[in-house]
Amino acid sequence: MASDSLSFDLATLGLSPGDGKQLELELELGEFEFADELYRPLPDPCAVSVSVTRMSSGGWALKLAFETTMRGTCMRCLGPAECKIAVEVREVDQIDGGEELESPYLDGSILLLDRWAHDSLALALPTQVICSPQCLGLCPTCGFDINADPKHEHEPEKSARWSKLDELKFD
Ligand SMILES: [Zn+2]
Ligand SMILES: [Zn+2]
Repeated sequence: MASDSLSFDLATLGLSPGDGKQLELELELGEFEFADELYRPLPDPCAVSVSVTRMSSGGWALKLAFETTMRGTCMRCLGPAECKIAVEVREVDQIDGGEELESPYLDGSILLLDRWAHDSLALALPTQVICSPQCLGLCPTCGFDINADPKHEHEPEKSARWSKLDELKFD
């Protein structure tokens, strides 16, 4: 059933020029790899909405929209992270007079929906997947997760020096 929705023939919609139709489908988005970490969309398969318009010139105008939650590794603290992503993209495929607009996701009237959805999500992914905007990350000195103890710090050099001075003083 899922494989039926990966790609489909727009011609089977039977749209006359100028007509449009909105489709609600379920689509498997697959995994994404960034910086050696895997990111997984939830839920997968995901509900997607596709608007198809048969243009009077003979081409297609398409819109794809969906929302998903990406789950993976926080790029600051390496803990689990989730971020919500809304995707809305358009494609136009038209061979009309001198002007040629060809969508890479249309092969004739066959729409390569899984590829379109996967590429769109990859482009929409923020470059930094973080567990929270307030994530404090790891201690640059010892790698401790500072979120677990925001007061985590190493003894400042200054106080160490002072205590040595104190020792000298009382010797
Ligand atoms: Zn984090
Ligand atoms: Zn530390």
